[in-house]
Amino acid sequence: MKPERTGLRNLDIRNWHRRLGGWITAVDVDLAEYCYFCKRVLALLEIVRVKDVRHPPRKATTIMRKLANGVSARGYLVAYRSEGEEVLEVGLRRVVPTWGAWRVMSASEFGEWLIMLHLSCPCLRGE
Ligand SMILES: [Zn+2]
Repeated sequence: MKPERTGLRNLDIRNWHRRLGGWITAVDVDLAEYCYFCKRVLALLEIVRVKDVRHPPRKATTIMRKLANGVSARGYLVAYRSEGEEVLEVGLRRVVPTWGAWRVMSASEFGEWLIMLHLSCPCLRGE
Protein backbone atom coordinates (compact mmCIF):
# COMPACT_ATOMS: atom_id res chain seq x y z
CA MET A 1 0.00 0.00 0.00
CA LYS A 2 0.99 3.55 -0.65
CA PRO A 3 2.39 5.22 2.50
CA GLU A 4 0.92 8.50 3.66
CA ARG A 5 3.06 11.37 2.35
CA THR A 6 3.16 13.54 5.45
CA GLY A 7 3.38 10.78 8.03
CA LEU A 8 0.65 12.59 9.98
CA ARG A 9 -2.46 10.70 8.93
CA ASN A 10 -3.34 7.12 9.65
CA LEU A 11 -4.39 5.36 6.46
CA ASP A 12 -5.39 2.01 7.97
CA ILE A 13 -9.06 2.23 6.96
CA ARG A 14 -8.21 3.62 3.51
CA ASN A 15 -5.71 0.81 2.83
CA TRP A 16 -8.17 -1.78 4.18
CA HIS A 17 -10.86 -0.39 1.86
CA ARG A 18 -8.55 -0.62 -1.17
CA ARG A 19 -7.91 -4.31 -0.49
CA LEU A 20 -11.64 -5.01 -1.00
CA GLY A 21 -11.16 -4.83 -4.75
CA GLY A 22 -10.62 -2.39 -7.57
CA TRP A 23 -14.32 -1.92 -8.26
CA ILE A 24 -15.21 -1.05 -4.64
CA THR A 25 -14.42 2.60 -5.14
CA ALA A 26 -14.71 5.66 -2.92
CA VAL A 27 -13.38 9.19 -2.63
CA ASP A 28 -12.89 11.51 0.28
CA VAL A 29 -14.14 15.07 0.16
CA ASP A 30 -11.42 17.45 1.21
CA LEU A 31 -13.68 20.24 2.48
CA ALA A 32 -17.43 20.68 2.63
CA GLU A 33 -18.09 24.34 3.37
CA TYR A 34 -21.44 24.64 5.12
CA CYS A 35 -23.43 27.46 6.65
CA TYR A 36 -22.91 27.88 10.38
CA PHE A 37 -26.50 29.03 10.80
CA CYS A 38 -28.66 26.73 8.65
CA LYS A 39 -26.17 23.88 7.94
CA ARG A 40 -26.73 24.14 4.17
CA VAL A 41 -23.78 22.76 2.20
CA LEU A 42 -22.38 25.76 0.34
CA ALA A 43 -19.52 24.20 -1.61
CA LEU A 44 -17.36 21.12 -1.91
CA LEU A 45 -13.65 21.73 -2.36
CA GLU A 46 -11.16 19.32 -3.87
CA ILE A 47 -7.80 20.49 -2.58
CA VAL A 48 -4.28 19.71 -3.68
CA ARG A 49 -0.94 21.06 -2.51
CA VAL A 50 1.29 22.15 -5.37
CA LYS A 51 4.61 23.92 -5.92
CA ASP A 52 3.19 26.37 -8.47
CA VAL A 53 -0.41 27.62 -8.33
CA ARG A 54 -0.25 29.49 -11.65
CA HIS A 55 -1.62 26.49 -13.54
CA PRO A 56 -4.58 24.26 -12.67
CA PRO A 57 -3.42 20.87 -11.39
CA ARG A 58 -4.46 17.64 -13.05
CA LYS A 59 -6.94 16.40 -10.49
CA ALA A 60 -10.06 14.36 -11.12
CA THR A 61 -13.24 16.10 -10.00
CA THR A 62 -15.87 13.79 -11.49
CA ILE A 63 -17.26 12.38 -8.25
CA MET A 64 -16.92 15.65 -6.34
CA ARG A 65 -18.93 17.36 -9.12
CA LYS A 66 -21.63 14.70 -8.86
CA LEU A 67 -21.75 15.16 -5.08
CA ALA A 68 -21.91 18.95 -5.38
CA ASN A 69 -24.70 18.72 -7.93
CA GLY A 70 -26.50 16.22 -5.70
CA VAL A 71 -26.65 18.66 -2.78
CA SER A 72 -27.15 21.73 -5.02
CA ALA A 73 -23.84 23.18 -3.88
CA ARG A 74 -20.98 24.70 -5.81
CA GLY A 75 -17.82 22.74 -6.46
CA TYR A 76 -14.26 24.05 -6.64
CA LEU A 77 -10.82 22.76 -7.42
CA VAL A 78 -8.32 24.42 -5.11
CA ALA A 79 -4.53 24.26 -5.29
CA TYR A 80 -2.31 25.85 -2.70
CA ARG A 81 1.37 26.52 -2.14
CA SER A 82 2.65 26.55 1.40
CA GLU A 83 5.80 26.68 3.45
CA GLY A 84 5.64 25.03 6.81
CA GLU A 85 2.14 25.67 8.09
CA GLU A 86 1.72 28.95 6.20
CA VAL A 87 -0.41 28.99 3.05
CA LEU A 88 1.19 31.43 0.61
CA GLU A 89 -0.90 31.30 -2.57
CA VAL A 90 -4.09 29.66 -3.71
CA GLY A 91 -5.39 28.77 -7.15
CA LEU A 92 -9.12 28.30 -7.54
CA ARG A 93 -11.48 27.13 -10.25
CA ARG A 94 -15.24 26.66 -10.04
CA VAL A 95 -16.27 23.30 -11.49
CA VAL A 96 -19.96 23.25 -10.43
CA PRO A 97 -22.42 24.41 -11.61
CA THR A 98 -20.22 25.49 -14.54
CA TRP A 99 -16.48 25.52 -15.18
CA GLY A 100 -14.92 28.87 -14.39
CA ALA A 101 -11.55 30.42 -15.07
CA TRP A 102 -8.47 29.55 -13.02
CA ARG A 103 -7.78 32.32 -10.51
CA VAL A 104 -4.69 32.85 -8.39
CA MET A 105 -4.91 34.75 -5.13
CA SER A 106 -3.12 35.27 -1.86
CA ALA A 107 -4.11 33.27 1.21
CA SER A 108 -5.85 36.32 2.67
CA GLU A 109 -7.79 36.87 -0.57
CA PHE A 110 -8.83 33.23 -0.45
CA GLY A 111 -9.99 33.78 3.13
CA GLU A 112 -12.07 36.76 1.97
CA TRP A 113 -13.47 34.64 -0.85
CA LEU A 114 -14.51 31.98 1.69
CA ILE A 115 -16.18 34.63 3.86
CA MET A 116 -18.13 35.88 0.82
CA LEU A 117 -19.13 32.29 0.01
CA HIS A 118 -20.58 31.93 3.51
CA LEU A 119 -22.24 35.36 3.36
CA SER A 120 -23.97 34.25 0.15
CA CYS A 121 -26.05 31.65 1.99
CA PRO A 122 -29.73 32.21 1.21
CA CYS A 123 -30.63 31.94 4.91
CA LEU A 124 -28.83 35.24 5.52
CA ARG A 125 -31.24 36.88 3.08
CA GLY A 126 -34.21 35.33 4.84
CA GLU A 127 -34.65 32.60 2.22
ZN1 LIG B 1 -27.38 29.42 5.85
